[in-house]
Amino acid sequence: MVEAKKTKSKVEKKTASPAKPKVQKKPAEAKPNAVAKKATVPKVAKKSAKVVIPKAPETEGVCEDRHCAVHKHMSVRGRVFIGTVIKDKMNKSIVVEWPRRVLIRKYERYAKKRSRVSAHNPKCITAKVGDRVKIAECRPISKTKKFVVVEVLK
Ligand SMILES: [Zn+2]
Repeated sequence: MVEAKKTKSKVEKKTASPAKPKVQKKPAEAKPNAVAKKATVPKVAKKSAKVVIPKAPETEGVCEDRHCAVHKHMSVRGRVFIGTVIKDKMNKSIVVEWPRRVLIRKYERYAKKRSRVSAHNPKCITAKVGDRVKIAECRPISKTKKFVVVEVLK
């Protein structure tokens, strides 16, 4: 790590023209950034005031799922996540998983972790294993279900 840094600074000195003095980055800042580039964690939506739900398809009125957010049977608020479906065997439920990073301050590095939640999977959407889905927080539907699938992303 130290060697790499030395070589990097050398290269910078060589390439950098004397007319433009480069601003030296703080090592504390530079380290997490370097790690962040390596990790391929998809962007997860942060807290948003309003959850944007895609417009209901032509099947409007047909959908009889009383927990369907797309057809306005269910109101959503709070957190929105994008994840991958890893289980779809349950009746109108799926398990969605997405990676996240946790900063370990002692080592100034990130650890990979995963979040899993079960979500309601309405009949009009029917997400399958492997699908990337957007889920939105809603009122508790059951003991473990507090999210509903809003759309399948392609
Ligand atoms: Zn529906």
